[in-house]
Amino acid sequence: MLSTLLAETHEELAPLVAPPWVFAAIAAAIFLVLAFVTYSYRDVTNRHGDKTINQDPNDHGHVSHGPSGAAHRLTPVSEGAARRPRIGVMGGTFDPVHNGHLVAASEVQQTFDLDEVVFVPTGEPWMKADVTEAEHRYLMTVVATASNPRFTVSRVDIDRDGPTYTIDTLRDLRAQRPDAELFFITGADAVAQIVQWKDVGELWELAHFVAVSRPGHALDVRGLPEAGVSSLEVPALAISSTECRERVGRGYPVWYLVPDGVVQYISKHHLYRSSTT
Ligand code: ATP
Ligand code: MG
Repeated sequence: MLSTLLAETHEELAPLVAPPWVFAAIAAAIFLVLAFVTYSYRDVTNRHGDKTINQDPNDHGHVSHGPSGAAHRLTPVSEGAARRPRIGVMGGTFDPVHNGHLVAASEVQQTFDLDEVVFVPTGEPWMKADVTEAEHRYLMTVVATASNPRFTVSRVDIDRDGPTYTIDTLRDLRAQRPDAELFFITGADAVAQIVQWKDVGELWELAHFVAVSRPGHALDVRGLPEAGVSSLEVPALAISSTECRERVGRGYPVWYLVPDGVVQYISKHHLYRSSTT
């Protein structure tokens, strides 16, 4: 009885069932759509499935991070394409320069495909008192960066009279290199203070800002123009110049916190010996 019923049902439905070639055509159409979607998606994801920084090397959107916290390198610029030189600007007191500065600069150089990172020791920092003589800080920075072919040091701030403001640093570097795109590198602690900087509204026109992580400081770029600032997680080195000065003052070593040449420079010039700050 059941088989009779099934046979009758099959006969009734037979005209409604599509022939096999219709199924094949539908399957082929689905395959083509999936292939197109997969190919398009490949442009905005890397092999870890994380979004890349951006595809247009002139679009400095926010860097995003994978689960490891590592940021992804910019898509290389194609051969022959018009490309402005990209220069990172690492401003700081560098009293003394330490490995935290160097790692941050190196990471931004790699991630943003920079041709050069110029370290700019401040002249008279407007926020700090009692800094070491500018010439010592400049020379320690030269020693620390000498082995990296992409690292250079600029005297623009130490040769300018009066307190150092980042806006003046950027104006001077822009005048020296009008062809270049500037990327100002700043640690998480300094990012929090940008809004207090002189002529803050003009900063974004002169450079793209790269805010790097720093142990002990939350990296927070809220309140800053989204298009003008990227955030980047860099290897965490809990080192500060203040701590280096204090260690030398207490007779503790700074080996491996600062480059070897800087340890020797500090020793040779008896820097920080009476430091209590
Ligand atoms: P000080 O303790 O004297 O203030 P510092 O270690 O903070 O010295 P600065 O010369 O003030 O060094 O810093 C220059 C820039 O480098 C700042 O933007 C700062 O946020 C960043 N920076 C300093 N140390 C680190 C670090 N360990 N990791 C990431 N960024 C850092
Ligand atoms: Mg500092």
